[in-house]
Amino acid sequence: MTIKVGVLGAGQLGLMMGQAGLPLEIHCVFLDPNPLSPARLIGKHICDNFCSAAVDTLADEVELLTFEFENIPADVISCSQNTRSLYPPLLALKVSQDRLAEKTLFNDLGIPTNDFFPIESLQELSDTFSSFSGPAMLKTRRLGYDGRGQLRIESLSEETLAAARPLILEGAILEAFVNFESEASCIGVFSSNESRFYPLNVNTHVNGILRHTKPVADHPMYAKAAEYTELIAKKLNYKGVLTVEFFVKGDELLANEIAPWVHNSGHWTIQGAQCSQFENHLRAICDLPLGSTELTNEHVEMFNIIGNNPNKRRLLQIPGLHLYLYGKEPKPNRKLGHATIIGEHNSPIRELTS
Ligand code: AMP
Repeated sequence: MTIKVGVLGAGQLGLMMGQAGLPLEIHCVFLDPNPLSPARLIGKHICDNFCSAAVDTLADEVELLTFEFENIPADVISCSQNTRSLYPPLLALKVSQDRLAEKTLFNDLGIPTNDFFPIESLQELSDTFSSFSGPAMLKTRRLGYDGRGQLRIESLSEETLAAARPLILEGAILEAFVNFESEASCIGVFSSNESRFYPLNVNTHVNGILRHTKPVADHPMYAKAAEYTELIAKKLNYKGVLTVEFFVKGDELLANEIAPWVHNSGHWTIQGAQCSQFENHLRAICDLPLGSTELTNEHVEMFNIIGNNPNKRRLLQIPGLHLYLYGKEPKPNRKLGHATIIGEHNSPIRELTS
């Protein structure tokens, strides 16, 4: 019997989720104000703002709700009458939307983070920065993603203070800058009675935007990352896919943020895992058995395509390469697609996707 899932947001994550659902007779219906949203190609698209009336319209059409976009106004969902069946739970979305709440939760659970402090004035910024021994990152507490709303601070020059002022007005935190060896993300999937974890992803960001991901089987930090991810999931009474992003420094794993939705660092799972994160997310929220998170091949990599259309013809000549374009207009810093490569290769994919 067909299950209808309402998805708040209709970007590329929704597109991939919608595709994963079809063979299981799970049909996604999307709500998104953008008439050109990528997921409109795979399921019914209600083109409206994220207001409570539109959420109610969506909820009336479906059995349960999920979301694929981080800046869904949580208060609007709270006002909707139909949020009993929202997975992951609203609390997870709320926590992920406030860096202070997020990092406080990590510390409350005994999960290490870098030092962080709420900042409400320029005076507080200068006092707190002086107490740090090195550079720092000022970040807006809310609505910052892909490097937006962030300022690296080396010294408190006039110019830095001017750039910091609007961030502080929005509500900000100051974090110690971490000289990490690498960045990693742990993708876990949680149903009512099971949890599974994909191999730990090693991620490279450029200008705060994910550029490359490599899942590493037997990563030495895997067990610790999975343990932390599970702690967070339990605390949030979680159902669905949960991603936790970490900085790796020596033998320390410092939690940076959570993403309570299918995540960009898991795009490789479509061809590189036995069951993709998109399918597993739907299985989890629909109370179906979870699929295997094992790799299909020891060598799997994912490259994001950002800003410019790639050379499709040249990429498609590479054996083992799977190209996924989202049908979006090119724009600086916009994620237009990704390429996953399965198997060892020495092709210049990085150059061909940038
Ligand atoms: P975020 O929005 O917190 O995920 O930050 C985006 C990216 O900026 C991260 O993936 C890191 O590459 C970098 N970054 C953020 N915070 C820090 C920090 N405190 N120290 C070093 N790099 C950071």
